[in-house]
Amino acid sequence: MTMEHNSIGDQIYELAKQLYPICRSITGNGVRQTLEIISKHIPLEVHEVPTGMKVLDWIIPKEWNIVDAWIKDPNGRKIIDFQNHNLHVLNYSIPLRQKMELEVLQGHLYSIPEQPDVIPYRTSYYKEQWGFCLSHRQRESLIAGEYEVCIESTLEPGSLTYAEYLVRGQTDKEFLFTTHICHPSLANDNVSGMAVLANLANHLDNSETYYSYRFLFIPGTIGSITWLDQNQNILNNIKGGIVVAGVGDDGHFHYKCSRRGTSAIDRICNSQIANHSGQLLPFSPYGYDERQFCSPGFNLAIGNISKSVWGTYPEYHTSSDNLDFISAKGLAGSLQLLIDIIKELDSCRFYINSCSRGEPQLGRRGLYSAIGGKADVKSLQMAMLWALNLSDGDHDLKAMEERSGVSQGTLEAAIELLCKSDLLTVE
Ligand code: ZN
Repeated sequence: MTMEHNSIGDQIYELAKQLYPICRSITGNGVRQTLEIISKHIPLEVHEVPTGMKVLDWIIPKEWNIVDAWIKDPNGRKIIDFQNHNLHVLNYSIPLRQKMELEVLQGHLYSIPEQPDVIPYRTSYYKEQWGFCLSHRQRESLIAGEYEVCIESTLEPGSLTYAEYLVRGQTDKEFLFTTHICHPSLANDNVSGMAVLANLANHLDNSETYYSYRFLFIPGTIGSITWLDQNQNILNNIKGGIVVAGVGDDGHFHYKCSRRGTSAIDRICNSQIANHSGQLLPFSPYGYDERQFCSPGFNLAIGNISKSVWGTYPEYHTSSDNLDFISAKGLAGSLQLLIDIIKELDSCRFYINSCSRGEPQLGRRGLYSAIGGKADVKSLQMAMLWALNLSDGDHDLKAMEERSGVSQGTLEAAIELLCKSDLLTVE
């Protein structure tokens, strides 16, 4: 079967499959290689931010790269091999070549006794150390004696790599779609997010939209902090957004609200996931990168869409989150949901009151007489006052209707009159 005849789900899965084997981290060549593959689908703009640069309250760390790592047992047999699975190495391990007794080695091993057959995923980005991850069953079979340990990695000044792509619409007001790109061989968290967003961007590239849509491919936490630090001048254009992660499994959808909780994005995502028996989750300052976008100084209307919620499924952050855990069907369902959300978002309009400090003098502008002849003068007048009051760039028509109790038709008539008098502008 040729690519053209494959279903969209198969195409997304194929991209996930290409990305899965790469050993990624928050910096390094794994991220660059990942972005190179995604660049074949969308024209990414790749940024390199140097080690040591201050970003908000953080500092860009040293760059980490790894080529090999292994442990040999007292018989000289290679029992752990990075080439077999990149989860075997504690991500960001410092270079090392050393012999040591099993008791010493044990202090650097990570396993999960409750899930004896999986390799856990562990990182140590901000504290320099080394370690290996292995199944608990294997750990229990280790014999006493002297082990040889090798980690062929580098941790040196370099840069942090991230990428973005802006699909331009009619207006520079935009919605942000973002995913993290820092996990090694883990399929749902997070190869699925990258593969779905690359396909979503590709889909939008071929559509006409009112809003602009920005796609971010960034390492978790430090990536969103870096992007926010470097893009403070455009944050006023952002009407909302979604952190997309963990969208390849066959679980139900979850939407975690933005900190604001009542923005258009919150309402639309909530109603769209409800069509798929999805579940709404309240905001909390934990989880994925929404915690940075929603920090109080930014307070952007950015929520999170996932299928199974991070940390709640046994495969999460283990070697069981592999290509069998995600499916073409799961990925295609997520893409379709996001397309449906964008369709609804793109038809929302936000208004700005050009005279928001106190009520404008409506009589002077002939606005009372303009409605004089209408049947329902009182309700149109109330609609004008509500429209003026809620035209703060955060309420779309539906939100105005819900807040004011005035019907959509009446609000539309009021907005039309106010726009004609230059008291309102459409964003
Ligand atoms: Zn994760």
